[in-house]
Amino acid sequence: MTDTMLSESLASARRRLSEALAAAGRPADAARLLAVSKTKPAGMVREAWQLGQREFGENYVQEALEKQVELADLDDIVWHFIGPLQANKTRAVAESFDWVHSVDREKIARRLNDQRPEGLGPLEICLQVNVSDEASKSGVAFEELEDLAKAVLSMPRLRLRGLMAIPAPAADLASQRAPLARLRQALETLRQRFPEARLDTLSMGMSDDLEAAVLEGATLVRLGTAIFGARSSSHH
Ligand SMILES: *Cc1c(COP(=O)(O)O)cnc(C)c1O
Repeated sequence: MTDTMLSESLASARRRLSEALAAAGRPADAARLLAVSKTKPAGMVREAWQLGQREFGENYVQEALEKQVELADLDDIVWHFIGPLQANKTRAVAESFDWVHSVDREKIARRLNDQRPEGLGPLEICLQVNVSDEASKSGVAFEELEDLAKAVLSMPRLRLRGLMAIPAPAADLASQRAPLARLRQALETLRQRFPEARLDTLSMGMSDDLEAAVLEGATLVRLGTAIFGARSSSHH
């Protein structure tokens, strides 16, 4: 992908998000774009940063750390870890990311809390919820969400911000919206249960279901392909 293509695809992703917000009757700043840069080189991340993009999502710890070294001069860049998180990788994530979207069990949260360096602010956390049952093995079940939220809210080095989901692919808008609506309702329930918490984030919506997610209240949409182009499947 050339620089011109990236600037065009980023502009069109921004336009798509603002049109979706307008169509949903929501304010233009009600959702922001997380650029998912997994498998893409640091040079493309830098290019997107030069075009004004600040928040980037990564799925693979080692790959992300290498990019962060190359991009260390971009001091206002915000790194989100959005991939499956194994216990032996929590330290690197706690030390090198600003957000983690994929917390789905207490053990992982506990390690992130213990390993978050004192010199950094709290790690911003979204709990990943399994909204499509058998389709995905990761994510906490709706029934266990409140207990996990309560545990995370008790951890001083973590700040619970909201919920994240990766729904099973669905063909039409109505079937895309159903699981996202459940996620929105689950966040609403948590807000009522924990009114003192700053639960302001619904991380949902990808290249294929952005419009459905924005209609259901997404505040952070995670776009990879739509910004950086297709990923070669051989990379991981
Ligand atoms: C890869 C990925 C994305 C981006 O997906 P696209 O379909 O390329 O937009 C978003 N969220 C998560 C968790 C991902 O792993």
